[in-house]
Amino acid sequence: MSPRSLEPERFDAIIVGAGVGGLYAIHRLRTLGLKVRAFEAGAGVGGTWYWNRYPGCRCDVESLEYSYSFSNELQQEWLWPERYGTQPEILRYVNHVADRFDLRREIEFNTRVKEIVFDSKTNVWTVKTDKGKIATARYCIMATGNLSTPRRPNYSGLGRFKGNWYHTGQWPHEGVDFTGLSVGVIGTGSSGVQSIPIIAKQAKHLYVFQRTANFSLPARNAPMNPSKEMAHKAEYPERRRAAFDTPFGIAGYPPPQKSALEASEEERLRAYEAKWMEGGSISFLYSFNDLLLSKEANETASEFVRRKIRATVKHPQTADLLCPNDHPIGTKRLILDTDYYETYNRDNVTLVDIRNKPIREITPTGLSTADAEYQLDAIVFATGFDAMTGAMKEIDIHTDAGMSIQQKWEHGPRTYLGIMIAGFPNLFMITGPQSPGVKSQMILSCEQHVDWIADCLEYLRARGISGIEAEQDAEDAWVRHNNEVANRTLYPQANSWYVGANIPGKPRIFMPYVGGVTAYKKRCDEVAANGYQGFRLGTSIEEPRSAAQ
Ligand code: FAD
Ligand code: NAP
Repeated sequence: MSPRSLEPERFDAIIVGAGVGGLYAIHRLRTLGLKVRAFEAGAGVGGTWYWNRYPGCRCDVESLEYSYSFSNELQQEWLWPERYGTQPEILRYVNHVADRFDLRREIEFNTRVKEIVFDSKTNVWTVKTDKGKIATARYCIMATGNLSTPRRPNYSGLGRFKGNWYHTGQWPHEGVDFTGLSVGVIGTGSSGVQSIPIIAKQAKHLYVFQRTANFSLPARNAPMNPSKEMAHKAEYPERRRAAFDTPFGIAGYPPPQKSALEASEEERLRAYEAKWMEGGSISFLYSFNDLLLSKEANETASEFVRRKIRATVKHPQTADLLCPNDHPIGTKRLILDTDYYETYNRDNVTLVDIRNKPIREITPTGLSTADAEYQLDAIVFATGFDAMTGAMKEIDIHTDAGMSIQQKWEHGPRTYLGIMIAGFPNLFMITGPQSPGVKSQMILSCEQHVDWIADCLEYLRARGISGIEAEQDAEDAWVRHNNEVANRTLYPQANSWYVGANIPGKPRIFMPYVGGVTAYKKRCDEVAANGYQGFRLGTSIEEPRSAAQ
């Protein structure tokens, strides 16, 4: 409330979150002349790159791709020191963007949005924060992130643990020195795999507690090659455009033409070996055109990586445990690492199988599994996030018609294009469920959504329309389409966070759109060109009127 009037502060648009998506939304909506305000739970900008400060955290998309494209000056002037950006480097970059475009003045930091309520008579959302602030806006833009609600297993005894414990997604800003300590890392997804080699070099002893083995490929990180950078930057505008003509929003990889099953064994091995040496996950999955469609084809790539693991890890039992056997390669986020498998050849590293002998409890001096006690000075939870729906469901979002997001998504998320939700007018999401966000270069997807939303708001303003809402039929059809597309692939076969399998009790729904960035953008553009097909436009949702009226 403003102190003088006790009236809520009024804005045209409120943005929740100041990661790469929220920041671009501030910039883009401000250029429309809208009065915007962003609320951010953290003390700084950057989202993912602000929170995830664990050792070894870095991007698995190349720096020259994982960056904003909206300003050519920006993309030309920023120099990336390495092939893949480290977390500190990306955070420096995002802070540079915030300063260069003077975005901070619209952001209230250290402020968590707790409740958002829609008034259908005025078509206005009221936003309440944990600081007691109340603000209103016609439009809410949820830039709350897909991997922003860290989760750890609910083991008993953590409160009595005498050492320190950490979650990779909430890492202390001052860093952690594990020198001389006995450390346990629980979890072997991307965060675990990136941090394990570095923690192993510091710790007296490292125990890795693995429930499921994951596929990981060498990143082959290297200092940036200046001539490659110059050549890339010279082609930036065309490359950025070309990225939209690719499934994952990343240009530069020729689409494969051949099935793995049409190739001879020798040809396959040659292809996989070349990709293994080149480094990078998209490149590897692009070896053949059916690796994510045919289990038989996929098995040839999966087995190639298993052989690499066995050839790297000296202890045969450890190697066996590290070989993934419960999902086709690429159906969980394919991990990129630096010396992950090599780390298990160190004398101070022990891999513990908690699939067959689960963790029973945390003890004051470590943890106990079904058959052993481990003495630990520190525990690292690399156990991931309540992905894609967690951040939205943590906010009490409801309408005066009595509809809440918790009820609406009780059996899994339902959206139209991953941008809007039927029953929640004027509330937009950036890279929401059922959009390709997490299956793409995410800065590209954030930019695409923000641009689409900004164009939509301009369209509404030009026609004096104050309300937009996804139609129920359009949403149902989009959810159906998502499932159909996913079911044509191998993705749903994995117990991944894409289906919510990492969170006990979470409904099993395949959440990202895997029809590819090209098809998705085409659909979004067609919807807009057809006067926002599948959306109800009106001065209020009770009085629908079409844009033509
Ligand atoms: P986020 O960066 O998650 O930002 C959301 C922000 O919203 C956060 O700052 C959060 O504090 C804030 N917020 C949430 N709820 C509230 C609330 N109620 N009130 C106030 N503020 C709130 N993607 C790639 O494409 N390539 C990669 O290599 C890659 N690496 C990753 C590595 C890690 C460790 C993780 C966790 C993710 C990675 N991702 C990667 C995905 C990454 O999340 C996106 O690339 C991108 O940073 C998402 O930006 P965002 O703005 O959408 O969300
Ligand atoms: P994650 O992929 O969900 O991995 C979590 C790990 O913790 C898994 O090994 C999981 O085992 C384990 N785990 C979870 N709950 C457990 C329990 N109750 N008991 C035992 N083990 C448990 O999480 P993440 O590693 O943080 O990565 C999340 C996503 O963030 C990635 O997929 C990626 O998109 C992004 N990310 C990217 C990078 C990068 O390289 N740029 C780095 C980090 C994160 P199960 O497999 O058995 O569930």
